[in-house]
Amino acid sequence: MTAAATDMRVLVQELMPLLAMLWALVPTTGAAAPAGGGHHVTGSPAPWHPEAGPLLYTISEEARRLEASLRREVTGHTGERRGGSDANTVAALDAIVALSYGVPEASARRAGAIVSRWIRSARQVTAVGLEARPTRIPVPPGQPQPPCPYCNTFSLRVLPHDRAIWCINGDCTDLAGRRPRGRLGYDHLGDPMIVWDDGHISRRQDLA
Ligand SMILES: [Zn+2]
Repeated sequence: MTAAATDMRVLVQELMPLLAMLWALVPTTGAAAPAGGGHHVTGSPAPWHPEAGPLLYTISEEARRLEASLRREVTGHTGERRGGSDANTVAALDAIVALSYGVPEASARRAGAIVSRWIRSARQVTAVGLEARPTRIPVPPGQPQPPCPYCNTFSLRVLPHDRAIWCINGDCTDLAGRRPRGRLGYDHLGDPMIVWDDGHISRRQDLA
């Protein structure tokens, strides 16, 4: 068992949920339209996410090539070419993990670098949002930033398009002694509030 093969297992585990997110953006990838029926989308734009679509195509193609190349190193032949379905991409990735244990360390490392590149690209697809940068809490123009209720500094951050909120002050702790984390929401009057993990709730009058 080589370290590079173990790395490969971890990398593919990391890739799988990202792939699921990309597939969710491009629901029709890999599946040919059913012949003579199904839903016709004549006149509608192609259901093809401009970033996720090409990346999924690249990953599925390269996964099949990588699997074939590793298989040739292990068995002397490339094996049958897989079909284009998403399930086949998953099967190719599973095979890549298994085959990594049978190739020299250097080959497994090279293969791992390819999978790492897919992971980086998937994260960069903006809709996946994992590399979105945290920002300060949006407030109306002229309004002050709400201070953190625990450390009273302006250290609260939120991810755009996400309601998760946390304090970036490394010395700040909540009532449970942990780094404060919470969720932006609205009370029954529609006023913004933050529900913190320790049960504390910040309301607008506390936030302003
Ligand atoms: Zn704080």
